[in-house]
Amino acid sequence: MKGKKVSMCIVCGKPKKGIAVHEDHVIFAIRWFKTNITKNASNNELVVCKECYPKYAKERRRYTSRLSLYIGIGLIFAILLIISTPSVGSVLAAIGVLVFLYALSLLSYIPRLELEIQHGIDTGASVSTKPQKWGKLQNNK
Ligand SMILES: [Zn+2]
Repeated sequence: MKGKKVSMCIVCGKPKKGIAVHEDHVIFAIRWFKTNITKNASNNELVVCKECYPKYAKERRRYTSRLSLYIGIGLIFAILLIISTPSVGSVLAAIGVLVFLYALSLLSYIPRLELEIQHGIDTGASVSTKPQKWGKLQNNK
């Protein structure tokens, strides 16, 4: 299956050029699902375009803070559950809660950008700082 790859902005959904999205396990899973189950994989290259970057940065920050909140709640709940009734059942229930919260966070999943991986920047805190690449992008209009 070979087709010309179109770069598609994940925020506005338009075929645009921009910063590549890092293809992590979630994107991989979605792509696998679309290729093998629903058979409607578009095979586009995922990017965030220049116009959408501020919106992306905001969404990504919201996502990372929500994810840490969910994990925090999940861990506290899991620890309390295991301490109060130490049994195999409560360990399984605790794992179930963590998996559920993780799945819940994926509903609003915002992937990282390739650029941030390369620069070793942890997203969330410093995602709002403008990547240097934009200057380059602006020049070759
Ligand atoms: Zn866009």
